[in-house]
Amino acid sequence: MMRKIGNCIALCPFCMEEHSVNRMVEREKAVFKNEEIIFDSERFYCEECGEYFEDDNLIKENDIRLKDAYREKMGLLKSSDIVAIRNVYGISQSDLCRILDWGGKTITRYESHQIQDKAHDMILRKISEDPGWYIDILIESQKAFPEQTYNRYYAKALSLYTKSEDYYLRKCIEANCSEYANNPQFVGNASLSINKIIDVIKYYASSGEVTSLYKSKLMELMWYSDFLSYKERNHSITGLPYMVLPSGIMPEGHNYLIKLKDVPCEDVIVDGNEAYFFHADESDYYSLTDDDKSILDTIISVMGAWGKEKLINQLEKERAYKETKMKNIVLYDYAKDLQIAP
Ligand SMILES: [Zn+2]
Repeated sequence: MMRKIGNCIALCPFCMEEHSVNRMVEREKAVFKNEEIIFDSERFYCEECGEYFEDDNLIKENDIRLKDAYREKMGLLKSSDIVAIRNVYGISQSDLCRILDWGGKTITRYESHQIQDKAHDMILRKISEDPGWYIDILIESQKAFPEQTYNRYYAKALSLYTKSEDYYLRKCIEANCSEYANNPQFVGNASLSINKIIDVIKYYASSGEVTSLYKSKLMELMWYSDFLSYKERNHSITGLPYMVLPSGIMPEGHNYLIKLKDVPCEDVIVDGNEAYFFHADESDYYSLTDDDKSILDTIISVMGAWGKEKLINQLEKERAYKETKMKNIVLYDYAKDLQIAP
């Protein structure tokens, strides 16, 4: 059904007069490239002649709406996404084509009616998330630009690169854990989820029942919750591998984890030594399921208020800790022998 969304001035081809007409929108179904597409299509409506019509501009806009709906369905960037990526880098359509060695009008077409192919879509996404890679290809095409233009593009990319530290840190954590990913006994039958790691830390750090949450305590709570989860549900929460280290059981890459942008970690001095303290306000923990939270709640109710000594004593009772050699990965199979019980 047509729905009115506003008014504008247009030339009605029926009464041949330029006057105010209604802007109408309707949900339309169309087949495009063998896919059934549902999209919002606009028409003008002249109240005087009771007729619907489109002008050239509206035809173009509706065409882009159809194609954007197709792009969305196929998991491709929408035309406005491509404009946004280019705007972030402050680069013109033709200059971006030059850097990528694409035909000079390619980007212009992608930003309107032409659907990009999957390979080009991946390159545009890569540019969006990885400014370091974009800088590499920009450097390669330096000669194609006047010095001033090149310097402007380079400075813009560099500032984005600096701001993207978290992206590279995540990649680093993934790479670090990747050698364990094939063994379910190392990762607790789950794939690594950095968002869950962050939410688990935030959950502990915001709990009123968790006292003095310094790094070694946090790491131990994380180990317990992942192993308890494996014991109860046959999969860990975060997919992290854990290792026996002189300071206890720690997740692989623990030094990187606490540097993630959304981890509420504070650098403090305790007795003259550098320490990491974790505290957060309550928030939403989007990546955690209710079952995940109930495991964390169990750990909090048992160990939340424990001090350092009690935590170490507890760990020393665990077969997982006693039987795993220093610097070896703790097998999730040990979860069945966890000494801590709800
Ligand atoms: Zn009319």
